[in-house]
Amino acid sequence: MNGIWAQFGGNLSFVCLAISLWAHFSIQIQRRSFRQEKIAFGIITGCASIGSILLAVEFNPGIYVDLRFSPLALAGMFGGPIAAAFAAALAIAFRFAVGGAAMIDGIVAIVAATGIGLAAHFCVRNRAPRPLDVALLSLALGGVLVISMVALPTLQNAHLLAGVGFPLTTLNCLATVLCGLVLLKTQQWELERSILVTAFSQSPDYLYVKDRNSRFITVNENMTRLFRFRTTAEMIGLSDFNLMSRPLAEELYYLEQRVIDTGMPLIDSAEQIEGRSLLASKVPLRDRQGRVIGLAGVTRDVTERVALERELRESKNLLSHAMAGMSDGIAMYDSKGFLVFCNDQYRDAFPLSRDARVIGAHISDILRRVAETGERPGIPDDVDGWIKAATVSLHSNKDEEVQLHNGDWRSIRTRLAEDGMAMAVVSDITATKQAEMALRLSAEQLKSLAETDGLTGIVNRRAFDEAFARETAGSARKNTPFSLLMVDIDRFKAYNDTYGHPAGDQCLRDVSKCLRQSVSRPADIVARYGGEEFVVFLPDTSAKGAMIVAEQFARRLAKENIAHSGSEFSRVTASIGLACATGAVLRTNPNRLLTEADAALYDAKTQGRNRILAHSPPGERHAMKEVG
Ligand code: GH3
Ligand code: MG
Ligand code: MG
Repeated sequence: MNGIWAQFGGNLSFVCLAISLWAHFSIQIQRRSFRQEKIAFGIITGCASIGSILLAVEFNPGIYVDLRFSPLALAGMFGGPIAAAFAAALAIAFRFAVGGAAMIDGIVAIVAATGIGLAAHFCVRNRAPRPLDVALLSLALGGVLVISMVALPTLQNAHLLAGVGFPLTTLNCLATVLCGLVLLKTQQWELERSILVTAFSQSPDYLYVKDRNSRFITVNENMTRLFRFRTTAEMIGLSDFNLMSRPLAEELYYLEQRVIDTGMPLIDSAEQIEGRSLLASKVPLRDRQGRVIGLAGVTRDVTERVALERELRESKNLLSHAMAGMSDGIAMYDSKGFLVFCNDQYRDAFPLSRDARVIGAHISDILRRVAETGERPGIPDDVDGWIKAATVSLHSNKDEEVQLHNGDWRSIRTRLAEDGMAMAVVSDITATKQAEMALRLSAEQLKSLAETDGLTGIVNRRAFDEAFARETAGSARKNTPFSLLMVDIDRFKAYNDTYGHPAGDQCLRDVSKCLRQSVSRPADIVARYGGEEFVVFLPDTSAKGAMIVAEQFARRLAKENIAHSGSEFSRVTASIGLACATGAVLRTNPNRLLTEADAALYDAKTQGRNRILAHSPPGERHAMKEVG
């Protein structure tokens, strides 16, 4: 039995050796195609199986026992159908060539062992195999072998199970576990290596390793593209002197040799190669004893970034020049109301709150300073409420014109920008505002001049016509009485002739003053109708009320007692015609009021002057008041 164990032990060593060899060389073979790699694995495991047959123990004449099944099962599990087919074909061919009594059963067992491996392959197809899978495969193989020894007639007749069943099964299982674990580890290394290789070769940066003489040991694909090589192999052994101008190569060589000599890495050194801006880092590469044996380099292409940075710098400069040069103030507030940008003009536009307008300040603090300093007059007593409302309205499109403490004016245009930002543009509109106010004032003055009689300062005929139309329409709408006095100075021609024209003018001014003093309501209007004739119109006034006004005027004029030697009353007097209308008359024919007042005035003249006559319907006598 000892002899059998020893022979099985030798067999086991051989199988393990074959699988270890595969583990060793698989990395080279892996560079070939997937199919070629699988075929190579099939051949290796097939050969391991044949080697095991060659080292087999001849249990009975023509009956060989060995560890041929383990490599076949492993070929199935780790190599899949292609490897399994090659391994099984080789083993079957060899077993067939050997011949013997148990040839058929041996071939059946070979197929069964390969099959169990393939079954395991399909079970773990969608994931990486684990040690437990290997253990299960080993157990399954053991089971297949026991069944074969019991079920296959030749093996059963030779009492194989009782003879070498235990060592055969145990060692096949052991070989499967040992070799399976080696293959598992190999697969893991292959995966890690392929990840590293992919990361190295596909990196968007330029990666390389150089020896102590700055010659390339390995480069990634990006490097070959930069220097226009077809394969990475073409660059191995070259140095920068083969790739670029001598001065540049010397400069790089000097830097690299310094890294190698001092052992100090070089981080982010700027390089210009082939018209591109590069950022190179070079770290020393050491052996196990810590001696520097070369260097590993990572170079990043920052051409686009550098160009973008330059562009950004230039446009920033341009923008800040524009901001500094413009007359308007500009400020940007973020969505929470904090000042994120402003130019000096913005701060200068508000001298009293200038210090509060700094980057990072909140709009509410700036407004509080405005209120505290009284920079903006007219802020309501509820300062907090005003600040709150102004803060909320910061983030809305609006145009404002505000007056400052010193009378200056600012226009503030607020616009909502992207990301909830608010942009405020502040312009000094003091000059425009002052011009606008001056214009408005002169327009008002012009209007008043156009409506005023130059001699007496009361409303002139033009303004009277406008006011008459407006006021009669108003009274018609309200259906209230509207009265009109037509006043004419008596014997005025004679006054002029006696006292001269300037005295006549003064007399006109005195009479108009008396008229103005005789009316009291704001709506009452005294106008110079022409020459020495005046009109007084009295909205919302009845004939009785108008008569009171007329009498009041006559009394005032009498009190003035302006001497008039050409008058039968020896002083300046006036005749007054009074008319009053309501409703329909005012609506349909307001001018009738003028005609009626004129008619009454005419009658007052003919009846002896210095009297007030109210117009009455035709056929009736005018109501008359003699004031003299
Ligand atoms: P009667 O009592 O009938 O009204 O007589 P009268 O002389 O007042 O009437 P008339 O219409 O004949 O004379 C009006 C005079 O008023 C004629 C004109 O010399 C004078 N007059 C008109 N406008 C002015 C003015 O602006 N200044 C001066 N000084 N006189 C004026
Ligand atoms: Mg007259
Ligand atoms: Mg007159």
